[in-house]
Amino acid sequence: MPELPEVEHAARVAHDAVHGRVLQRIDALHPAIARDGAVDRAAALVGRRVVAVRRVAKWQEFAFDDGAVLVVHFRMTGDWAVHDDAATPRHGRLALGFADGRTLWLVDPRVLARIAYHAPGAVRRDVAAPDAHDPALTPAALRARFARRRVPIKLALLDQRLLAGLGNIYAAEALWHARIHPATPASRLSLARVTRLLEGIRWALGEALADPGRQQYGESLDRLAVYDREGAPCPRCGAPIRRIVQGARSTYYCGRCQRA
Ligand SMILES: [Zn+2]
Repeated sequence: MPELPEVEHAARVAHDAVHGRVLQRIDALHPAIARDGAVDRAAALVGRRVVAVRRVAKWQEFAFDDGAVLVVHFRMTGDWAVHDDAATPRHGRLALGFADGRTLWLVDPRVLARIAYHAPGAVRRDVAAPDAHDPALTPAALRARFARRRVPIKLALLDQRLLAGLGNIYAAEALWHARIHPATPASRLSLARVTRLLEGIRWALGEALADPGRQQYGESLDRLAVYDREGAPCPRCGAPIRRIVQGARSTYYCGRCQRA
């Protein structure tokens, strides 16, 4: 699952490639992309202009000039390819063709990406939780969302119904920055600790957003403090990084400076 910074990067790529352009065709090139009819319904977008592409949580939203929205979620292996000729790239699953010859291809080897179409004025129910990177999110509002959750804070951070956009890597990094043990029940966090946690989330995502392409292709994880660094020294106190399993996924943390 791509993390929020990778989705932000992808949305910028799509925005730069197609904003201001008029859609000429939208074609599903694989039955799995076409399965729920969203691509068929999105044919209503032909002739409309893309105003902007923006990230909302882990979705990418194409806003059109009539108020309609095309939503793309990459899931596991999705990515964009931009071409100014008609050749279909390997694993091309969806084609967004524009009037000047440009095509934005959704490339997705495993074909797990999801497409949704919202007609102008449609009521949206798919994005309920606040975005982890929303500057308007306050510590008090975040604490209120955790108030009745006794699950470990690491799992609460991954629950997209509570907070949208954080994945396994940056949840661990944010908890390290905030010095919070990942097994601490979410409901037990004081306002002061949630304030530090929100700072940690912004620190982790800010570092990544400053260089959003860095993990896109499995490149260096060197700049991460704890993720995938079991046994390496904590950058803050030097104690060895530990690994535990929570919700069937690895969590990395410092046993000395992250406290319950
Ligand atoms: Zn430490």
